[in-house]
Amino acid sequence: MKSTQKLLDIDGSQGEGGGQILRTALSLSVVTGQGFVLRNIRAGRKKPGLMRQHLACVRAAEAISGAQVTGAELHSTELVFVPAAIRPGQYQFSIGSAGSTMLVLQTILPMLLMADQPSEVILEGGTHNPMAPTADFIQQAFLPLLQRLGAQVSMQLETPGFAPVGGGKVVVQVQPWTHLQPLVALLRGPLKLLEATATVLNLDTAIAQREVATLEALLAEYGLNATCRVDQGIGEGNVLTVAVHTEGHTEVFSLLGEHGKSAEHIAKRMAGLVKHYLHQDAVLDEYLSDQVLLPMALVSWKTNLNSAFTTRTISEHTQTQAQMIERFLPVSIVLNGGTIKIQMQ
Ligand code: ATP
Repeated sequence: MKSTQKLLDIDGSQGEGGGQILRTALSLSVVTGQGFVLRNIRAGRKKPGLMRQHLACVRAAEAISGAQVTGAELHSTELVFVPAAIRPGQYQFSIGSAGSTMLVLQTILPMLLMADQPSEVILEGGTHNPMAPTADFIQQAFLPLLQRLGAQVSMQLETPGFAPVGGGKVVVQVQPWTHLQPLVALLRGPLKLLEATATVLNLDTAIAQREVATLEALLAEYGLNATCRVDQGIGEGNVLTVAVHTEGHTEVFSLLGEHGKSAEHIAKRMAGLVKHYLHQDAVLDEYLSDQVLLPMALVSWKTNLNSAFTTRTISEHTQTQAQMIERFLPVSIVLNGGTIKIQMQ
């Protein structure tokens, strides 16, 4: 352990007290070189401590940064993490469960983007998880926003993985982030295209067809462009994804099929999400808002330039995320009504 460094002391029970506090601490610790001790890990959750997905994030951050780590065990509620230098290259990380590979990806992306050489990463586990961005959401909404911030990341979904089996695989290429640029997204502009994809993995294709038929009827006024997809892989699953392309932004909504919930029920819920978004003016919806804060803060830190966007809602997750970022970086994240501004302090 580097004895000279004063570690940041982080309380994992703050705000919503979830796994994001850990993931953000890992990303920003490696990027800034600032070590931390995290106590009360996921104290706000029913089963506190490190679950497999969180442990995979710690292991991945450790491998990429050559960190010295204590407390990296399943169910651990305290972690000490002291990074060395970022090591770009070829990596393969397996979660060992259906835990979300996309959350592991979001943890390591800032580190690999800040490296001076490209990296390629294989991630294995879940690619379509409840309460996490799906691979489709990452490909169609998150990575395009990163691109607008100047980052070059591409991802191929090789095999989808759903809970409880997992077995999914993605391959990701990350280029060094040499041209960081701020983003101001205050206006969405008119709707250009509404695209839906209903996907099944080892389930009856009629499920996807019924989702599409119901959604087409419910969103007829917008002229929905809908397709069905049959995926190959182990386990089984169903996901309905809608991409809302407006002039200034692409927002994505994903819903997973659930046992005991009909295809029509999922499609109705999806229509509700899409209409709710279209019937207001903000550019980013809830989830993208919390996810884009960290990359935007890195841009402000490195370039001294401000980013800003309008959001449909400021969740507790977003508030906790803003506080965490401000612990590591000299930026201010101003949450003001429906507008979020990221600027240097
Ligand atoms: P826990 O809090 O139990 O530790 P966790 O580590 O899996 O859970 P959270 O801290 O809750 O995760 O963070 C979940 C992340 O997933 C957030 O960034 C949120 O924006 C994102 N997310 C959740 N649901 C969706 C969704 N439907 N589409 C896109 N992103 C989502």
